[in-house]
Amino acid sequence: MHSPDDKQSALTLHLADELATATLARHLAPLLTPGMVVWLDGDLGAGKTTLVRALLRALGHVGPVKSPTYTLVEIYVISRIYWYHFDFYRFNFPEEFLDAGLGEYFRDDAVCLVEWPEKAAGCVPAADLVVLFHILGERRTLDVVAGSEEGRICLNALKSGWCDVAG
Ligand code: ADP
Ligand code: MG
Repeated sequence: MHSPDDKQSALTLHLADELATATLARHLAPLLTPGMVVWLDGDLGAGKTTLVRALLRALGHVGPVKSPTYTLVEIYVISRIYWYHFDFYRFNFPEEFLDAGLGEYFRDDAVCLVEWPEKAAGCVPAADLVVLFHILGERRTLDVVAGSEEGRICLNALKSGWCDVAG
């Protein structure tokens, strides 16, 4: 089901179904630390929101997790950490990020999960971790790439945990 690659700063995961996405989320959620920025990159329906929902559920959130397509950001506070879920799909210009004052959300006590970061290119803070989603029918292939030292630490821990699961 899973096949981690052996590159230093990237990991490719093959997820057969949503259950596998939930398993990934249970591994990844505890590795995301305050201050981290995660870009979620992929087409409509690729599974970006599904992964965020699974991450928040893995952290113990029991309420709804709505797509922020219209609100730009949905806010969660879990164990005194702020989790901000963004979706910039509807931006016409990257500068709308600045106009909306969204930079204030990117703080040391918050984890920022960003769908459609390319729509805010040059304005949205750089990613510690980038997750690239590829659709293959019901399957999804995810490339997880580190963009910082924090991201690399997270990625290496994810690799170890995932290898244990994959056997
Ligand atoms: P996005 O936020 O990228 O536009 P969503 O998460 O809203 O995408 O939707 C993904 C859709 O794909 C959901 O309907 C989900 O049920 C479906 N899906 C099918 N297979 C998978 C998978 N392996 N992982 C995640 N979602 C999947
Ligand atoms: Mg979405």
